[in-house]
Amino acid sequence: MIGQRDSVSGAHFAFTDRWGGVSAAPYEELNLGGAVGDDPEAVTTNRELAAKSLGLDPARVVWMNQVHGADVAVVSEPWGKQPVPRVDAVVTAERGLALAVLTADCTPVLLADPVAGIAAAAHAGRPGVVAGVVPAALRAMTELGADPARIVARTGPAVCGRCYEVPEEMRAEVAAVEPAAHAETSWGTPAVDVSAGVHAQLDRLGVHDRRQSPVCTLESGDHFSYRRDRATGRLAGYVWLD
Ligand SMILES: [Zn+2]
Repeated sequence: MIGQRDSVSGAHFAFTDRWGGVSAAPYEELNLGGAVGDDPEAVTTNRELAAKSLGLDPARVVWMNQVHGADVAVVSEPWGKQPVPRVDAVVTAERGLALAVLTADCTPVLLADPVAGIAAAAHAGRPGVVAGVVPAALRAMTELGADPARIVARTGPAVCGRCYEVPEEMRAEVAAVEPAAHAETSWGTPAVDVSAGVHAQLDRLGVHDRRQSPVCTLESGDHFSYRRDRATGRLAGYVWLD
């Protein structure tokens, strides 16, 4: 259910694995994504199960309609009846409101300044690193009063640089923006390391309290991987402040 969890000064970070939910194959078991072809009732149940295991009210979890861009929404309450915006980062100054990001290989990024009471969740895939979604989320946080020196950052399970094979031109395009993302597969072909790119961006912007999940989704049978399975579920990362 919850593969990884930690707390720093009242800021909470959690990442799910694929087990402990009710979805049938190929979404077994804890699929939290609503746009992957799974039974919507199963997804609702899974979201309730995951929230409860974290001590959260499922109605106070803010999801995104992720599109591999760099747009950021600032939220102070759940979307309710409003359409869920097409953004890849959400930021809040509302303590107790949980922000969630869905992934299956892309890098889920959770950020929090416990002193200012500002949190953010971002979805960073290869296009997101190029578009700068993480710097955009950080900018939105600092505009609300967060200080990068106080921000705690966590990145969750994602496809690793030794597995994420891409054409040579694509690696060059990403590395031109973020040299740290330049990688090579374990079989010697061009690759991209999205998490390394995200951490380099955070480091450059003054966020030094960072931790990266050691889990590679493509290599782990306990996690969903789009590149491995195509039709599969979505993991979630959650961040919230007391
Ligand atoms: Zn890997």
